[in-house]
Amino acid sequence: MQIKEIIDYLDLLYPLSLQEDYDNAGHKVGDATQQLTGILVTLDVTDDVIDEALASGFNLVVSHHPMIFAGLKSLVPTNTQTRMLNRLIKNDICVYSAHTNLDNLPGGVSFILGEKLGVRNLKTLKPMCPGKSKQQPVQTDANLVTAEQQPGGGAIGELDTPLPYRDFVERVKRVLQLPMIKCSTNPPSDVKCVALCGGSGSFLIDEAARQHADIYLTSDIKYHDYQKAVGTIHLADIGHYESEQFAQELIYNDIIKKFSNFACRITKAKTSYIQYI
Ligand SMILES: [Zn+2]
Repeated sequence: MQIKEIIDYLDLLYPLSLQEDYDNAGHKVGDATQQLTGILVTLDVTDDVIDEALASGFNLVVSHHPMIFAGLKSLVPTNTQTRMLNRLIKNDICVYSAHTNLDNLPGGVSFILGEKLGVRNLKTLKPMCPGKSKQQPVQTDANLVTAEQQPGGGAIGELDTPLPYRDFVERVKRVLQLPMIKCSTNPPSDVKCVALCGGSGSFLIDEAARQHADIYLTSDIKYHDYQKAVGTIHLADIGHYESEQFAQELIYNDIIKKFSNFACRITKAKTSYIQYI
């Protein structure tokens, strides 16, 4: 089977029409007419991930974050990005990325984060403008689309029963394997309604406040975002990698559901560029 068959399937599941304008998701590296030897799923492509693909004899890496955005002017291996691209091409490894199209998918990155944290009745926090999605997502177990689950940013839902704030924070730390969370001052006493966005979600702070979430979990929150949120919404920065880590599981499950006879696994590497010390 050619690599292209997997790519066509992923393009159907995660329509590129759902990606943001700045994004560059999809198949961007390598010759997809090669015969597939195995698939490695990862959040980021790093040298460790390339080492693992080579050691496993796999020639397709499926990542969440794309390797190439606009502005790549040369492939001369003078920096980490171009050096890795050279390694991949020399070793006939393809890279496919499902990025903001997977973020914006109902049942996508924010939904799986919510499910892992016990948040129920999830719906899209901020649906996309009508007309943005020209292609409807294919329904899978991971992205069952209901009337309330439109493509768009973030997710919002409720815990089965309200939890004391400290208990909920401890749950988040345990599930996400986080040693700390950077939160606003003045926490709520209990948490029932939870808004979330995997990755950089500051753009949805106002929407989470408007919908009266007790807490908004996302990452890459700036100091002045906390300032602006005072009195409107409680913010919790749960780390970019940590908030998106379950995207790997989501992609892996979607692939093996259709292609169970091919070697496919999630990378053993923790690809985060940040450590807590
Ligand atoms: Zn991200």
